[in-house]
Amino acid sequence: MHNKSIAELSAALQSKDISSVELTQHFIERIKKYDNDLNSFITQTPDLALEAAKVADASIANGSAGALTGIPLAQKDIFCTNGVRTSCGSKMLDNFTAPYDATVVSNLNAAGMPMLGKLNMDEFAMGSSNENSFYGAVKNPWDTDRVPGGSSGGSAACVAARLAPVATGTDTGGSIRQPASMCGITGIKPTYGRVSRFGIVSYASSLDQAGVFGRSAEDCAMLLEPMAGFDEKDSTCIDKPVPNYAANLNDSLQGLKIGLPKEYFSNGIDGNIEKLIDEAIAEYKKLGAEVIEISLPNSHLSIPAYYVIAPAECSSNLSRYDGVRYGYRCEDPKDLTDMYMRSRGEAFGEEVLRRIMVGTYALSAGYYDAYYLQAQKIRRLISEDFTKAFEQVDVIMGPTAPTTAFKIGEKTDDPVTMYLSDIYTIAVNLAGLPGISVPVGMADKLPAGLQIIGNYFDEAKILNVAHQYQQNTDWHLQMPAAYQA
Ligand code: GLN
Repeated sequence: MHNKSIAELSAALQSKDISSVELTQHFIERIKKYDNDLNSFITQTPDLALEAAKVADASIANGSAGALTGIPLAQKDIFCTNGVRTSCGSKMLDNFTAPYDATVVSNLNAAGMPMLGKLNMDEFAMGSSNENSFYGAVKNPWDTDRVPGGSSGGSAACVAARLAPVATGTDTGGSIRQPASMCGITGIKPTYGRVSRFGIVSYASSLDQAGVFGRSAEDCAMLLEPMAGFDEKDSTCIDKPVPNYAANLNDSLQGLKIGLPKEYFSNGIDGNIEKLIDEAIAEYKKLGAEVIEISLPNSHLSIPAYYVIAPAECSSNLSRYDGVRYGYRCEDPKDLTDMYMRSRGEAFGEEVLRRIMVGTYALSAGYYDAYYLQAQKIRRLISEDFTKAFEQVDVIMGPTAPTTAFKIGEKTDDPVTMYLSDIYTIAVNLAGLPGISVPVGMADKLPAGLQIIGNYFDEAKILNVAHQYQQNTDWHLQMPAAYQA
């Protein structure tokens, strides 16, 4: 049951071969059985899920159900959920229960999907390995000595081990695509503005975007559709109709122009991964695609630009956590300043503190021009590289991450090496483009992903391109042996 696609689950529910209560119970049992070890959930909500499943069964019975009604999911713990704790992976919000739902959450609730719980993540979505969570590291189901990637590591591990059919995530610099790649599943980050950010705990507001983890591109297409669309509560959300993403999945790729950026295939990439990417590209040629070498000349500047812009925005966003209205407050403060300083100092983890300091420095009067303004100029150059490339090609392809999943603890002492995990994903956020990661094989028993980048609002196109590959290969159907039963 847990290895079925969303479309198959939907059909089984509609034909009453299974009820939503039974399906939800099945996943609750799996979570009980496997998650003590994986640690992909921060908060489990089995009772709420079963209540929602009963409501779903009633609407299936009376004919008012939609395609997703009754299919359970799990939410990254960055989405505010009315009445259920939203910790964002931080001690700061360990005691925080939002009084409202994020728009993504209310959209998916309205679609009739029972929520199994809230998923582990790097604190405030800062990280590439899920080792920065206040609730402990998440393990990779393919090898539990290894990280699942980050920051949405809980979402990726949970779907890879089939503890939920689908899960949500957010991606500021790679946090959906990179963990999807390291856990052997499919993950899409839509165009900036496609999905409402209302009720998502802010990290870097000009980069944050919500998306989906699923087994396949088809599953992602089905979940993305109800999530996406205009929301007047988010002023950066675009008022543009949402296409039926599942409708174009079978379009032919004959004549598709694929751009391969030469910068993505130079030094730094693991040889085993390069070979898998080459094999995937060969598969696309068989499907009728044409391959064109392109250049993204400023891509080597994406990490330095991001690590000025993202910390700058986070230093401003995280100033709201002051111990006054909600979140952690230190014991017995001497005075107001002591309360601010100790509440923040005691509740934020090391990586979050590092970024607040870097960001505050980059925005300070004497350094704004030298760092922040320069980084913004580089950001413009990076997006112009993509605009030029999309004059020649329909999609851009390359590796999602430079390595497969690394060992827990391997990079924690070296933040700069850790930052390089997102070398292929960050430019896409700086430009605001959509990207998807698709599993394309195993290197030393660990999954690797192909990244497909689309032009603005071309989610339907990249889902179609990903789906066609998955119709002709079966990497997306593989799952870690220890979680099959
Ligand atoms: N790894 C990057 C960072 O640490 C990206 C994280 C993300 O996309 N949320 O900021």
